[in-house]
Amino acid sequence: MDNLVDIVREAGVVGAGGAGFPTHVKLSAQAEYLIINGVECEPLLQVDQYLMTEYARPIVETVETVRQQVGAKKAFLTLKEKYTEARQALEAVVKDFPAIEVPVFPSVYPMGDEHVLVYETVGRVVPAGGIPIDVGVVGMNVETIWNIHRAIKGEPLVDTYLSIVGEVPEPMTIKVPLGTVTGDLLSLLGIKVAGLEILEGGPMMGGLTTLDTPLQKTSKGLFLLKPTNPVIYRRKQPVSTFLKIARAACCHCNFCTENCPRYLLGHPLEPHRIMWGVSIGEQEDFPAFEGVQYCCECGVCELYSCPMEISPRRIIQNLKKTAKVDRKKVDEPAVSDLRETRKVPTKRLEARLALTDYHKPAPWKDVAIVPKSVCIALKSHVGVASEPMVSVGDSVRRGQKIARIPEGKLGANIHASIDGRVTEIANGVVRIQQ
Ligand code: SF4
Ligand code: SF4
Repeated sequence: MDNLVDIVREAGVVGAGGAGFPTHVKLSAQAEYLIINGVECEPLLQVDQYLMTEYARPIVETVETVRQQVGAKKAFLTLKEKYTEARQALEAVVKDFPAIEVPVFPSVYPMGDEHVLVYETVGRVVPAGGIPIDVGVVGMNVETIWNIHRAIKGEPLVDTYLSIVGEVPEPMTIKVPLGTVTGDLLSLLGIKVAGLEILEGGPMMGGLTTLDTPLQKTSKGLFLLKPTNPVIYRRKQPVSTFLKIARAACCHCNFCTENCPRYLLGHPLEPHRIMWGVSIGEQEDFPAFEGVQYCCECGVCELYSCPMEISPRRIIQNLKKTAKVDRKKVDEPAVSDLRETRKVPTKRLEARLALTDYHKPAPWKDVAIVPKSVCIALKSHVGVASEPMVSVGDSVRRGQKIARIPEGKLGANIHASIDGRVTEIANGVVRIQQ
């Protein structure tokens, strides 16, 4: 086995920044441009900044390897202008790689949304309902590139990188074995959680999590917050509450649409019209509901735009399950002339969400996390669940393949993240005990 696609498939690498799309499939594509997402969309998470600063050379070399693999004439390693250290580290290396550029962007949200980043970097609009390859682009994030580098060195994907921020005495970025249970990790680090809520991911797109939830390949951060924080308050409301508020109080101001990053790219998504539909009691067939399929669930409408504390995002998430939509790709979107003036500054967003006090560095903490047990999901990626290759009672070593992609299917291999014994294979997880 010597080609990159096979190496990456074998190592179980999936997109670390989103839904976990298997990386070997992306590497099989041919593209004009390769865009590496280093802009770390979510406020306050700092994993990619750390990796780019600390491992600038191997990251740039791996970007070059991937660029050649997908046949791209140019690769862009994108980052935000405020990432001074990462920028200096990358620019010192990238001068040796003429086909790689390091564009820098302002701190606006959601810069890391793949449609937004493609437009900002190469000026092409991904069609609504489409993906970057439709306009000749392959996109990956920085942690994925780092995991490809490790795969080339013979190391399968057995760790994830996390920022732990918010109501913690010492914000930090660390490496954690896959399947480490959230409560075990926080207790190993001596972080007290009593009276706090935990988001896995960032404040905009992260979800409430629990102490017994294991961390997986796509985990990027733990954000501890007081229950009174507006982000937590909104997350805890049932969608029925937002529907009632929408019916009673939506003033049809259009702000949710005017700031929607996908609407501004010309996609046929107008959340204010969707809110109008739900406020007059429409259930399924309202024409504006067609747009729900184009929502990327960035949360701008919910956490920044709406003056009435409605969550168009949550209502749209709900409609995605029930509305009758004909899934189709819409070509030739017309980018709004107002797009430049409607970008959401991250600082203002943080202030609106009472997060400014948490705007602190989360530096790398060199600590070996060795949990007593891990609980590794057989499906934390796009595609089908992996097939276990071990049985209860088997001894396994860190890095040993324990589940494989079913023949002919889209999926990802899975490896043990600690040495130990398999104690359970049930409910879609493999539990390993030291
Ligand atoms: S969550 Fe709201 S702002 Fe974001 S894409 Fe969906 S409708 Fe637009
Ligand atoms: S921003 Fe809020 S109040 Fe205004 S149209 Fe959208 S949902 Fe209604």
